[in-house]
Amino acid sequence: MEIDLQVMERNGYAKDGNQESKAKPLLVMKFGGTSVGGSKPIKRVASLVEKYTREGNSLVVVVSAIRGVTNSLVEMGNFIKQNRRLDLELSLEDIFYRHLEVASNLNLPHPLRASLDDKIEELFFGLHSLALNLKETPPKSLDRILSYGERLNVPIVQAALSARGVFAEALDASKIIETDTNFGFASPNMERTEQHVKNIVEPMIEMGMIPVVTGFIGSTMYGDITTLGRGGSDYTASILGRVLGADEVWIWTDVDGVYSDDPRKNPNAQLLTELSQIKAHQMAMAGARVLYPKTVEPLIGTQTVLRVKNTFDPESPGTKIYIKQG
Ligand code: ADP
Ligand code: ASP
Ligand code: MG
Repeated sequence: MEIDLQVMERNGYAKDGNQESKAKPLLVMKFGGTSVGGSKPIKRVASLVEKYTREGNSLVVVVSAIRGVTNSLVEMGNFIKQNRRLDLELSLEDIFYRHLEVASNLNLPHPLRASLDDKIEELFFGLHSLALNLKETPPKSLDRILSYGERLNVPIVQAALSARGVFAEALDASKIIETDTNFGFASPNMERTEQHVKNIVEPMIEMGMIPVVTGFIGSTMYGDITTLGRGGSDYTASILGRVLGADEVWIWTDVDGVYSDDPRKNPNAQLLTELSQIKAHQMAMAGARVLYPKTVEPLIGTQTVLRVKNTFDPESPGTKIYIKQG
C-alpha cells in the first residue's frame, strides 16, 4: 500500500511512523438544509458538533442554506428577469425575517445575539442592493445571489456553537475553494484549493478552532463567486476532505443513510450499511439525491471514509463508504 507521508504528517503522525503520536482524527461534517432548517435542528447540530469535538476529534463543519432558501433565491432571480419588483421586495423581506427569526429562537446570550443580528443585517443589505440593482440575471449574477443562502446561515450555526462554548469561526468558502468560471456548475481547481486550505483552514484547525464553512460556493481566480451545482454542499465537504487528507467526511442528512432506492418513494428500499467508493459513486451519478453526483469523486482512491448519517437519529450507524472492492 502506498502511504502518503505528507498527509500522515499533516494528520499528526511522527516522521518515524509512531502511531502513538497521532493527533486527533480529522472529521469534515456537512449538515444539509433540513439539518439546519430552523432553530431546533440547528441546536441539535451544535450539540452533535460539541459531542464529537469533546470525544477528541478535530472538526471542519460545512453548512447548507436553511431548507427552502436556495429555492427562494432562484425564484428571486426570476422576479428580477420579469421585473416583478413587488414580488422581489416581498421575497427579500421574507428571507430577512426568516433568518432573524431562526437567530432569535436560538435564545442566544445578548452579545452573541446582537452581533449575529448585525451580521445577518450586513449580509442581507448586500443581497438587497444586489437584487434591486439587477435587471437581468446572467449566471454570474445568479451565483452571487444564490451564495447568500449559505452565507446567511453560517454565522447562525457559528453563533449556536459559540453559545455552547465551542470555539468556532465562520468561513466563506469563496476564500478557499477556487473554481473555473463555469457559473452555476463550477469545478474546483484542486491544487489552488489545497493551497488556500493550507493557508487558511489548517492554521484554524491547529489553533483548535472549528471552521464553519459555507457549502455550495467557491470563487474564480478573479474573485467572482461561483456555485458548484444544486445540492453541491456535499461536494464542498468531500473537496475539503480530500485536500485536508481528512480521516472521514460525514454527510448528515434527514434519512438513515444510502438506501437501495429513495426511501421516501419506495417503502421496500433497503439501507446499505457499507458501500465501496465505486458503487457509491455510481449510485450518486445515477441520481440518488442523498449524495450530490460528484461527492465521491475527490475521495476515490484515498483512505478517507465517507459516511452518510441521520441528524435526527445520530446513533443509527448510517452508511460507510470506503475503498473496498465490490
Ligand atoms: P440534504 O438537504 O441533507 O442535502 P437531500 O434532500 O439532498 O438532503 O438528500 C436527502 C434525501 O435524498 C432523502 O430525504 C431521500 O428522500 C432522498 N434520496 C434519494 N435517493 C436516495 C437513496 N438512494 N438513499 C437515501 N436517500 C435518498
Ligand atoms: N443550498 C444549496 C441547494 O439547495 C446547496 C445544498 O443544499 O447542498 O442546492
Ligand atoms: Mg443534498
